Order: sequence, then structure tokens, then C-alpha cells
Amino acid sequence: MTVSYEEALQGYEPVFGLETHVELGTTTKMFCGCLTAFGAEPNTHTCPVCLGLPGSLPVVNRRSIEFAIRIGLALNCSIASWCRFARKNYFYPDMPKNFQISQYDEPLCTDGYLDVLVGGATIRVGIERVHLEEDTGKSLHVGGATGRIQGAEYSLVDYNRAGIPLVEIVTKPVPGTGYLAPEVAKAYVTELRDVLRTLGVSDVRMEEGSMRCDVNTSLSVRGSGVWGTRTETKNVNSLRSVERAVRSEIERQAFVLDSGDRIIQETRHFHEDTGVTTSGRSKEEAQDYRYFPEPDLVPVAPDPAWVTEIGKTLPELPSARRARLIESWSLSELEFEALRNAGALDAVEATVAAGASPADARKWWLGELARKANDAGVDVSELPITPEQVARVAELVASGALNDKLARQVIDGVLEGEGPPDEVVAERGLAVVSDDSALLAAIDEAIAANEEVVAKIRNGKVAAAGALVGAVMNATGGKANAPRVRELILERLS
Ligand SMILES: [Zn+2]
Repeated sequence: MTVSYEEALQGYEPVFGLETHVELGTTTKMFCGCLTAFGAEPNTHTCPVCLGLPGSLPVVNRRSIEFAIRIGLALNCSIASWCRFARKNYFYPDMPKNFQISQYDEPLCTDGYLDVLVGGATIRVGIERVHLEEDTGKSLHVGGATGRIQGAEYSLVDYNRAGIPLVEIVTKPVPGTGYLAPEVAKAYVTELRDVLRTLGVSDVRMEEGSMRCDVNTSLSVRGSGVWGTRTETKNVNSLRSVERAVRSEIERQAFVLDSGDRIIQETRHFHEDTGVTTSGRSKEEAQDYRYFPEPDLVPVAPDPAWVTEIGKTLPELPSARRARLIESWSLSELEFEALRNAGALDAVEATVAAGASPADARKWWLGELARKANDAGVDVSELPITPEQVARVAELVASGALNDKLARQVIDGVLEGEGPPDEVVAERGLAVVSDDSALLAAIDEAIAANEEVVAKIRNGKVAAAGALVGAVMNATGGKANAPRVRELILERLS
């Protein structure tokens, strides 16, 4: 492949869309009373309903409907007053009924949007639909080198996941983002994850598969106004992979089109290790599934009063929180993004709540603490220091008891388990020395040792005093109150 991303964007305009599956955090499954807990012994959370045994009848989990409505309302969707489940017919070993109960032409939530922030600009991503369905079981292929079915000696099936409620959230096609398409796709999934987490409807762990993305990508020839054939990329299971998958498909499709070939509508697989997609099966059409209304379930007709009630219980959503914090902390949107991308939003908000100024809280979490987290390979929120402790350090600096250099040593001490800031200050003897008599001895030594600098200052070059301040700071192990040292030096030499 020889088309670079930049070259691809010169000739083509990308359009992308996302289908996101999210396992709902209900206690029990979608159509039976089996538990949904992750990590149990295989095939221990099963019953005749989720094993699809003859004669068993499903009953809808009310909580899963409530969760889907919460999601629909948070994504600004219309909630259907009446809709039905449908059978999606296909055979797969991990789907014991040989059909999946899903929703087809009557989804519960439709026509909403989610605003995402990219590079300081707000981009509105349209939501086509939010519908409910049941998850499948899980196949484990044993004996091969790759864990895939090819080369495996045999396969095992675990039905614990079969029947766990899923919502599928489908965006409308997103055109017009140009060069930023991969970044906007990632920002959308990030924002969606934050919304779902805030709603408390899912643990949204991409690495455990409770949130999974399929990415649709197509290219249109710049200026043609005609959308190209799209591909659907599966296995996109991290935020970073969303961005890489869109970028890689843009480059691949541009190469195919530049070579005079056409794009085949197909499912492709994303490979984490190489960052490229490979061809899967050719994409089936809706009629291949022979959808029809599920005859074993009554229609879902949520009472409008219930929907209104659910709407009243929605928490503050990430977009509202963003607007509030940008306003009350006087941030630019780029500064806000930096905080969010560093994963420091909760920590900074809690530090401000503990009494620090927003500027101080941001300074410590985005500076020293972000560096420490990066060195340790953890998120800032995982560092063993609390927002209250960071607020205390900021307070000690503001009061003049610590300077920045000493404050960093206090933070080191807290992170190394030496106790809260005040204990570290006492144990390590880290208070700033402001006592003039203690400082004057070091100042006189510095004056005696730096005749040339002293001559400059006496000739009016006051800026040269910095060298003497530095000498005193060295002599006192960084504990001197630097502004006071400077004052005393100038007094001494006046
Ligand atoms: Zn069951």
C-alpha cells in the first residue's frame, strides 16, 4: 500500500459511522432470571430460557427497558410509545436458539445526537437509533496457536453471556470532518463511554468486552457529492483502535480506488498488532436474516409518565459538566480537553472542592502528578495521593510555608507512602526558611564568594542578584524563601 493519509485526504472525503454494543449492568439477563456477573465458571449462569430449550418462554427484564430509555434520553432521542422485538435468524454455535431476539424496524429510541469536542470545536454526531437485543455466548477455540478457529483442535462454548442485555447505539453517517475523521470517531466513542458511565447503566469496560465498536467507513471522491461503498470493521476494542481503524481504512480504500478497483461491501477485521484491517465475510443484507416480530413477547409500550420520571432522574451529563467547568474555572475548550484527555477531570474537581484554586489544582495534576503517573505507567487517578492532600500542598505553597521545589518533594513523600503532606514536611524537615538570621549567614557567604556579581549589582545591574539568590538556595538545600533572600541581598548591598 502506497497511499499516505495526507494523499488520501487530498482526493477523497471520508464518511464514517459507528455501531456500538454495550452490555447493560442489570443484575439478571434480558429474558430470564440468570445472573449476568462476569467471570463465573463456564455454563453456571444458564437456564432453559437462555439455553433456548424447547418450550421455554422469555419475559422482558423491565430494568433493561429502563436503562435503554435512560440512554435514549441522554442521547436526545425520541422514545417509542410502542415497539416490538424481532427475531434475527442465523445459526452460530454460541447462539443456542439459532436466532437472536433483537429489534429491527421498531427500535425503542430514534433520531438523537451527541455533541463531541475536538480541537476546541463542537461537532454534532447524529444518532440513528438505540435498540435492545440479547448477547450471544462465547466460543473458546482450543489447541491452535492464535486462539482463532483456524488450526484449533476443538471449541468450547460458554453460555453465561448468552442473553445478557445489550444496547446497540447506531450513529447516522458522519460526513464533512475531513482530516479529523479518525479523531472525531475516537472522541465520539470517548464521549459515549463517559455518558454511559455517568448514567450508571454499564461498566463500559472495552477490555472486558462490555463495550464493543464496529466502525463503518467509506470514501467519496472530493467534490462528487456521491458516497462510496462502505466497509464495516469489527474487533475495534479500544479508544485508540477506533482512531487507527478509521485511518487505516481511509488509506486502504484510497489505494484501492486510485488503482481503479472498486470497494467491496464487506466485514473487515481490525488487528491491534499491525493496525490494519483484513477482509472478513462479504456483508449480508437485512433480508438474509429473515426478521419477523418475536411471537413469544408482548410489545413494549412504556407509559409516557414513566419515561418522564426516568428523564427527571438523569444525572448531570458530561456535556453539561463541561459547560459548567469551562465557565466556573474560566477555561478555554482546549484547556478543558487537555484535562479530560489526561484523565484528571475528577481529581481536579475534587481538589478544587477541597479548597485549592482551579489554577493550582490544574497545575499540580497536569504537571508534576501527570509526569509521575506517566513514569509509573498508570492513570493519574491511580496515584496514591488524594485530592485533599494535593489541595493541602497547594495551600502550603500559597501560604509561603513551601516553595514549588519543596512541594514536589512533599508530593514525592506522599507517593512513597510516608504519610499525608504535613507529616512528610515534618519528617523530612521541608519547611521554607524565612527566618532572616538563618538566611543572612548564607547570604553573607554568597556575597563574599561572588565579588564580580556584587560589583555588577552595586553598579545598578539589579538583575544580577539572581546568581546570588541561586547560590543561597543551593547552600540551604532549596529551603530558603527566595523572594525574601532577594530582598535581603539588595538591602545588604544598598
Ligand atoms: Zn437463563
